[in-house]
Amino acid sequence: MHPSIFDLATSHSKSPEVPLQTTLRLPFFARDVVDLNRSTDLLEISERLGKGARFILGGGSNLVVRSSPESPLPATVIRNRLAGIVRLSSEQPEVRIRCAAGESWHSFVMWTLSQGLAGLENLALIPGTVGAAPIQNIGAYGVEVADRIDTVHAWDFEKQDHVTFSSKDCGFSYRWSRFKDADQQGPWDMPRFLITGVDFRLWQAGHAPVVAHYAGVRERVESMGHTVDDGDGLTAHRIAHAVMSLRREKLPDPDELPNAGSFFQNPEVPNAFAQSLKAKHPAAPVFASGTASKLSAGWLIDQCGLRGFRVGDAGVSERHALVLVNHGGANAHDLLEVARTIQREVMRRFGVWLEPEPILVPPMQAY
Ligand SMILES: Cc1cc2nc3c(=O)[nH]c(=O)nc-3n(C[C@H](O)[C@H](O)[C@H](O)COP(=O)(O)OP(=O)(O)OC[C@H]3O[C@@H](n4cnc5c(N)ncnc54)[C@H](O)[C@@H]3O)c2cc1C
Repeated sequence: MHPSIFDLATSHSKSPEVPLQTTLRLPFFARDVVDLNRSTDLLEISERLGKGARFILGGGSNLVVRSSPESPLPATVIRNRLAGIVRLSSEQPEVRIRCAAGESWHSFVMWTLSQGLAGLENLALIPGTVGAAPIQNIGAYGVEVADRIDTVHAWDFEKQDHVTFSSKDCGFSYRWSRFKDADQQGPWDMPRFLITGVDFRLWQAGHAPVVAHYAGVRERVESMGHTVDDGDGLTAHRIAHAVMSLRREKLPDPDELPNAGSFFQNPEVPNAFAQSLKAKHPAAPVFASGTASKLSAGWLIDQCGLRGFRVGDAGVSERHALVLVNHGGANAHDLLEVARTIQREVMRRFGVWLEPEPILVPPMQAY
């Protein structure tokens, strides 16, 4: 990787008494913590950890961790703080940008817009770090980050070396990549790859494909007083602002009501199954997804009347049935109980099994 953008200092602390942060604000204590500030420290960290358990933490916005001060996560948490952004090439109208993995995703999107670059506007306001974006191939409003990634740079704990993956080698699909696949990535306590940076292929504004067909984006741009009849009205800035406005309206802000965004993936089902569901429930949203169909997990949960359902301080958001929230003192057990109730009810009523979207540590069957 470009060495000059990853050069601060790395610190190590044995601090199980200091809670780590996730956007769900469940108790998160770990055996010890390393702050990774430069990628050149990875060899030393790797050698020091040896075969000891490790866990990589970004912004904690897609995580449910079971831990307490008495029973901290039995692993060294590597907190990713790698910082820096560089422009690699500007062969008009395409521009390649490298961003270090510890940068905030939303700040990076806003930076690209400030540089007159387009391509990431639909992904504005997604919490977390740039390095975690490829893990589940973040997506929103008709765009997946896989559509904009050129190369992923990572540290391979097995080879003890830096490696790169082309976008094709990342195995991207809906909310999925090889980095989320335990068969290729390793179990939660022994992840094989730590993503250190990502190269994006973007465009000079005005040359990017405009994606505004999805979930009210075009209407929101119009309602903000802009004409959208010709493609020119839909600038990257306007789309970003429409997306941010829609997200603020629909999703609870984790700073006000802690949550991890969508708690379940939209299930993919055979077309015939989707058609019979639609025959019984004409209002059910059904989307084409390759050769199959995708259902709306939020709609299925809503039909079970679970909005507002609670176990202790964990519950289903009143605003969005797909979002599980912490009303104050929730723990991982309560949250998982809410999740299991949803899975059982949706299965009983519709015969569909919902898979969680966040990473559960330890995995769900261990709760
Ligand atoms: C309010 C809200 C809205 C959201 N909206 C969306 C949305 O629209 N679309 C969407 O796709 N997601 C959404 N999310 C989920 C989340 O923001 C993304 O999945 C995000 O990419 C997670 O980033 P993070 O840095 O917080 O990862 P973390 O939660 O810290 O980690 C998630 C997983 O990735 C691993 N990981 C993190 N960094 C690295 C790294 N550098 N190398 C290797 N492994 C790593 C961790 O070990 C963990 O397994 C939302 C979440 C919230 C709270």
